[in-house]
Amino acid sequence: MKYKDIFFDLDRTIWDFEKNSLNCLQDIYEENALINKSVSSFDVFFKIYKNYNKILWDAYRKDEIKKEFLRVERFRLTLQHFHIYDDLLANKLGDDYIDKSPLQTALFPHSIDVLDYLFQKYTLHIITNGFKEVQYVKLQNSKLRKYFKNIFISEEVGVKKPHPKIFEYAVGKSNTKIETSIMIGDDLAVDILGARNVGMDQIYFNPQQKEHSEKITYEIASLDEIMRIL
Ligand SMILES: [Mg+2]
Repeated sequence: MKYKDIFFDLDRTIWDFEKNSLNCLQDIYEENALINKSVSSFDVFFKIYKNYNKILWDAYRKDEIKKEFLRVERFRLTLQHFHIYDDLLANKLGDDYIDKSPLQTALFPHSIDVLDYLFQKYTLHIITNGFKEVQYVKLQNSKLRKYFKNIFISEEVGVKKPHPKIFEYAVGKSNTKIETSIMIGDDLAVDILGARNVGMDQIYFNPQQKEHSEKITYEIASLDEIMRIL
């Protein structure tokens, strides 16, 4: 058996970030009665939020902004789009999201089957760029914690994927080798090219089958395909 250790990304690879985020924001939208504050509909609110969140996350990943800023700014900009200038409300939405989103438990199809299968054969770990106060709660609530020996969170390591150091650190701390490790993730630039850059094999989880021209070890559209590879 070539591989010993499997490093998983968490958000959008196992934990269904889009579905969970949508559910959580819908609750927040209703609880804070945003419809009464000139936000026309939840769908529009979600679309605008998603757009700002993506822009800010890209900046966060490049260390251009701090997480405290991202946390509130995505809501401040979304509210501003609807001509709501209320920093207190933006702060509250930011807090609500951090409190509530990790309580969501939607996982991608076949997640548990695949983890049960891999857990018998390999040592599993997580490498994530998510916030530390959120990721541990997610893992616990979604009943995923037991599958993973180590959880490597960029905030605790000091660098984010795709920085080579986070992969090297994870391999070292797991007492394993790059050559016997494989990375599974949904983000081509962050997870897959990050791993490839340090010489680690990769499985690119690409459910929407986005086109690209990178040479990668394996590519899958559904998680159950992992059981044919590993
Ligand atoms: Mg991901």
